[in-house]
Amino acid sequence: MRQAQCSCGQLRVACKGEPAKVSICHCDACRLRTGSAFGIAVFYPREAVKAEGDQRDHTRKADSGRNVTFHFCPYCGSSVWWEPERMPDRVAVALGAFADPDFPMPDQSVNDARRYKWIEFPEAMQKRAE
Ligand SMILES: [Zn+2]
Ligand SMILES: [Zn+2]
Repeated sequence: MRQAQCSCGQLRVACKGEPAKVSICHCDACRLRTGSAFGIAVFYPREAVKAEGDQRDHTRKADSGRNVTFHFCPYCGSSVWWEPERMPDRVAVALGAFADPDFPMPDQSVNDARRYKWIEFPEAMQKRAE
């Protein structure tokens, strides 16, 4: 069992078991959402994730043309987890929201062509164009 949370701690997400996939994304939408150099999604089966606390939603269209709905804390603004319409049986949780340096390494780095040039990842990590 792992616990993710927003910056102020009132929105909490309990995640059961190991993630299905951990994915770094270098698209501009992920930068704008996080304010960081890239976003990291920890994908879990929908039934493994339970959110608790107040949250607000923001829906945007992904590159796939399908909607993604982000859930964020209305008090501190952290976006903690989201639901990609493209993968109805999975939800994503922000890796940073676990604040756990022992969290498993990401499996892949997507939209790698948009990556800041000063960012380098271990050879083992798969890099994808999408
Ligand atoms: Zn908060
Ligand atoms: Zn992205």
